[in-house]
Amino acid sequence: MPSTRSLAQWVEQLERFCAQAMHPDSLLGPYDAARERKRLAVAAGCGLTGIQVAPEHGGFGAPYSIKALIAQRLASLDFGVSMAVINSQNVADDLSQWLPIAVSQRWVPGLLTGDLIGCTALTEPAAGSDFSAITTHAVQTAEGWRLQGEKTWIINAQVADIFLVYAQTEPGSGAAGIAAFVVEAKREGFERSIETFTSAAALSGTGGFRLQGYVAQTGELLHPPGLAFKRALESINGARVYVAAMCVGMLQESLRIAQAYGQRRATFGQALAQHQGWRWALAEAAIDLEAASALVQRAAQAIDEGIPSQDLAAKAKAFATRAAQRHLPVLLHAMGAEGLRDRYPLLRHVAAAQVATLVDGSTEMLLERISKNLKI
Ligand SMILES: Cc1cc2nc3c(=O)[nH]c(=O)nc-3n(C[C@H](O)[C@H](O)[C@H](O)COP(=O)(O)OP(=O)(O)OC[C@H]3O[C@@H](n4cnc5c(N)ncnc54)[C@H](O)[C@@H]3O)c2cc1C
Repeated sequence: MPSTRSLAQWVEQLERFCAQAMHPDSLLGPYDAARERKRLAVAAGCGLTGIQVAPEHGGFGAPYSIKALIAQRLASLDFGVSMAVINSQNVADDLSQWLPIAVSQRWVPGLLTGDLIGCTALTEPAAGSDFSAITTHAVQTAEGWRLQGEKTWIINAQVADIFLVYAQTEPGSGAAGIAAFVVEAKREGFERSIETFTSAAALSGTGGFRLQGYVAQTGELLHPPGLAFKRALESINGARVYVAAMCVGMLQESLRIAQAYGQRRATFGQALAQHQGWRWALAEAAIDLEAASALVQRAAQAIDEGIPSQDLAAKAKAFATRAAQRHLPVLLHAMGAEGLRDRYPLLRHVAAAQVATLVDGSTEMLLERISKNLKI
C-alpha cells in the first residue's frame, strides 16, 4: 500500500508536533492526564496516530520504517511520549486491520483525531515474560464474552478509552486458548487502577485496570483463540524494532548535547572536548550508536519488505537497549552537574533505557529468540 505522505511531509509534520507540544518544561513529571490527552490530540492532528493505518480507514498507509523513524525522533525528546503516541497508533492500526470496517469505525476515527486513546494489555500481576500464563478469563455467553481479571504495567492505561485485552478462554490450554477483545473504559465492569506505577518513562501513562464481569459483544472479539497468540507475537516483533529505534534516538540526542557541552565548558584551561580521557567516552558512544542505528535500519527494512525479521528484530533491540543502558549514564556523567538539569533529557533517558530493556521482550527473552535461530 503506497504511503499518502512523502518522507519530507512526515518530517515536516513530526517537527511541527515537536515544536508545538514537546517543550522541555512540558516533559517533566508527574503525569498529568489532561496535559497528556492534549499532547496526544496534537500528535493526532499531525497524523502521528494514523501512520500505518490504511487510507480507506482514514490513515496514511505508511511503511513500518516511517513509524520507526517517528518513534526515534519522539524518543530523542521523551521515551514515554513516544511510547504513548506509537501505542495509540498501533491500536488504530490493529482495529482497522482485523475487524470489519463497520465495527472498527466505532473507534478508529476517534483514535485518528485523538479524541480516543488506545492501549494494548497483555501483562498481568503474575504473568509478564511468560505471556502464555495469563489468567484473565473470557467465558462465552449468549451476549458475547464475559471478562474477569487484572492487567498491569500497560502504557496509556491511565488515560486510555480503548483497550485491546488478551484473555484466556480455556484455562490450562496456554497459548492456544488466548483470545483478544476490544474493551471500552466507559462501560460497566471496567475499573482503572489508581496506583502510581513509576516515574521512569512517566509520560507513557503506564497503569493498570481490572475487569469484573465486563461483557464484550461478539463483534468485539479482535483475535479468536488459536490466532491471538500468534498475532500478538507478530506485533511484539515490530515493537522490538521501534523500541530499538527509540534507544537510538535517546542516544543520538544525548551524544549531541554532550558534544555541544564539551565545546563550551572549560576545565584546567581548555574545553572539556580537548581532554582525551573525556572525549573517548563520547567516541565509544558514537561507535555503538552507529551500529545500533544500522541494525534498526536493517530490521525495519526487513519488516517493510515482508521478509522474516524475528532474528534481526531481537538483535536490534538487544543491541540498542544495551547500548543505551551502557552509554546514557556515561554521557550524563560527562556533563558533570549540568547534565542533571531538568532542561536536558539525559536523566529521563537513563531511566527510560531500563524500561526499554523490559518492554516487548526483555533482554533475556531476546537472547532466547536469537538462540533459537542458532539451533542450539
Ligand atoms: C513502563 C512499562 C510499560 C509497559 N507497557 C506494557 C504494555 O503496554 N502492555 C503490556 O502488555 N505490557 C507492558 N509492560 C510489561 C512488560 O512487557 C513486562 O515488564 C515484561 O514482559 C517483563 O515482564 P515482568 O516485568 O513481569 O518480568 P518477569 O517476567 O517477572 O521477569 C523478571 C526478570 O527475569 C527475567 N526472566 C524471566 N524469565 C526468564 C527466563 N526464562 N530466563 C532468564 N531470565 C528470565 C526477565 O527478563 C526479567 O529480567 C510494560 C512494562 C513497563 C516497565
